[in-house]
Amino acid sequence: MKLKTFRGGIHPEGHKDISKGQEVEAYLPKGDLVFPINQHIGKPARPVVAKGDPVLAGQIIAEADGFVSANIISSCSGKVKAIEERHTASGARAMCIVIENDGQYTLAPGIGKTPHRGTLSSKDILDAIKAAGIVGMGGAGFPTHVKLTSKNPESIDYVIANGSECEPYITCDDRLMQDENRGILEGLRLVLELFPNAQGVIAIEDNKPDAIKAMEAVCAGEKHISVQPVMAKYPEGGERNLISVISGRDLRFGQLPADVGCVVCNVSTLNAIYHAVHNSEPLMERYFTVSGDAVANPRTMSVRIGTSCAELIEAAGGIKPGCTVKKVLSGGPMMGIAMSSLDVPVCKNNNALTVLAEDEVELAEAQATACIRCGRCTRACPIHLIPQAMAEAAERKDYEQYEKRLYGLDCIACGSCTYVCPAKRPLMQLFKQTKASIMAAKRK
Ligand code: SF4
Ligand code: SF4
Repeated sequence: MKLKTFRGGIHPEGHKDISKGQEVEAYLPKGDLVFPINQHIGKPARPVVAKGDPVLAGQIIAEADGFVSANIISSCSGKVKAIEERHTASGARAMCIVIENDGQYTLAPGIGKTPHRGTLSSKDILDAIKAAGIVGMGGAGFPTHVKLTSKNPESIDYVIANGSECEPYITCDDRLMQDENRGILEGLRLVLELFPNAQGVIAIEDNKPDAIKAMEAVCAGEKHISVQPVMAKYPEGGERNLISVISGRDLRFGQLPADVGCVVCNVSTLNAIYHAVHNSEPLMERYFTVSGDAVANPRTMSVRIGTSCAELIEAAGGIKPGCTVKKVLSGGPMMGIAMSSLDVPVCKNNNALTVLAEDEVELAEAQATACIRCGRCTRACPIHLIPQAMAEAAERKDYEQYEKRLYGLDCIACGSCTYVCPAKRPLMQLFKQTKASIMAAKRK
């Protein structure tokens, strides 16, 4: 059977075998835990604790400030050591609540208890998701209760569970679908309760046969939920691509998934929804991959939000003997962000650390030459942009052309164009800088 896929995209080496075979163990952090109050898109949360306060695991330490915001939950017990600015994985500074971990992980009252309720209303489900501080765990960090609140829920035809995990090296969703398939299914059922006309489709790349088997087994007999294997191709997991693959509908520039009758949720988010609604468990931990050719024992672990990235690299065996680290990325090698410090916490929407012995971007930049107008970047762009023309406009600083005629702000920074460019032009890096300049000018 021909597998479904989208137009464009690339086939980078997956490097998934080095981490996917390991059993997932829970890692309990030893040091302080750090909770940025802006682990989501929207307004930062408002701290509700002060220095010296005792806290319990599962306790809200910063409350959502407005609708588009999310609660921040302590994932350990201990006491508040500081509320201060610190660096995060993106390199930016953010206000953070630092908890001195007592190592006991004493739970706040009510956590883990099944609420005794009858049939759940949409409001019950959305309230539980909001209370649990759930945000898009595939990377977006958009507050989930906002994404799932619809003025017209009848207009949604598809709830797509994103199990693509197309970034090289990362295997946490693959493992989660094998270990927590029941939670993902139950989470998807809960989301379908919010959209009465929708069917659920769990999209998984065909390079994850064990995950496909596990999800198919747990979904057997489901009337409104199916598992859809899709071709392993980067960036399959991009919302726009997945919608096109599953529903056959194209998102036009500026449209949201709901405009074409779709809602997309990462499988980790669905599992978190299940735990929040059925077990009153807020978002305190997640599956997280530490991988890369410079790591001694690449693996996925179940980690507490707020754990230091430096601790997690040690938990994965540290750096391979004799290896020199050239680059550490928060995320994978395609869309990840190069980190300047490892003394930063894992946030709700971080899924991986990739530790590399070579910096391929640096190597490529050293060899960059002029564009030879081969058109490969345009063929590879999954969202039908013209990277060659965008690069020319960006270099001329013709932002009008870049934004209005070439739709450059719709670039999802997937790096496919950079990957295929024979002239080794750092296209994605240029597009990221250009977007930042345009957005800064707009804010002014
Ligand atoms: S980085 Fe932007 S322009 Fe390049 S392929 Fe991806 S979406 Fe297209
Ligand atoms: S792939 Fe590189 S060389 Fe080819 S058209 Fe695009 S920018 Fe130019």
